[in-house]
Amino acid sequence: MSQVAIVTGGTRGIGAAISTMLKDNGFTVAAIYAGNDDRARRFNEETGISVYKWDVADYEACQAGCAQVAADLGPVDVLVNNAGITRDTTMHKMTHEMWQEVIDVNLGGCFNMSHAVFGGMRERKYGRIVNIGSINGQAGQYGQVNYAAAKSGIHGFTKALAQEGARANITVNAIAPGYIDTDMVSAVPEAVLEKIIAKIPVGRLGKASEIARGVLFLVSKDAGFVTGSTLSINGGQHMY
Ligand code: NDP
Repeated sequence: MSQVAIVTGGTRGIGAAISTMLKDNGFTVAAIYAGNDDRARRFNEETGISVYKWDVADYEACQAGCAQVAADLGPVDVLVNNAGITRDTTMHKMTHEMWQEVIDVNLGGCFNMSHAVFGGMRERKYGRIVNIGSINGQAGQYGQVNYAAAKSGIHGFTKALAQEGARANITVNAIAPGYIDTDMVSAVPEAVLEKIIAKIPVGRLGKASEIARGVLFLVSKDAGFVTGSTLSINGGQHMY
């Protein structure tokens, strides 16, 4: 029987590539999105992947949403915590709201979603969780204290939950992407982007499919000895 995978932020950018890669490799996928209905509808029409709308920062919505996915598609074997946002500015201009929103979605969402599926994975003695961190959670980044803190938190979360899941055959890993060509990176001013690319040894932005390939490896059944690790996919920009 096909394994069921939830991919948050699964209808656009890196998440869409992950959803598609998993579907093409035999998983039944539920792609979660926040509010971009047009994009989600088109993604569903183009790929046939089921889409669900809820806010990963909302604990109750995650509980209800994951229960709905399980009722529709079957017990959840794989969770990819990919949904993320940026609210960039320097510390002295950052509002408390900008801080809280990024922590709530990027890190809170990771807890809320994992909490909703972890019990079932423990009962069935199988699970694969992959959390999408960031190079900027490893190295820090000017103008991103909120984002860097949330992503750095994801790396700690991964190592702690990996220890809890190990005996139940649940692996928990992270991927730390470098700069990937998506909407999130298009929002970076061109002059800044040029400087960033100049620091990437392979001399280009990454592709969403290159992150998806890493996810596919980490969620495979025969990757059971890989847990608590962070896979950096960044063109050599930060060798951690
Ligand atoms: P995009 O901005 O292209 O897509 C973000 C996705 O997350 C969308 O599907 C969006 O839904 C969804 N989303 C946002 N907020 C919520 C929420 N509260 N609840 C549910 N879904 C939500 O992002 P990327 O593809 O660029 O990034 C994906 C992940 O990779 C993020 O965690 C990001 O931090 C990380 N990353 C990205 C890098 C890059 O260079 N692009 C580098 C390092 C890390 P909707 O379409 O409805 O808005």
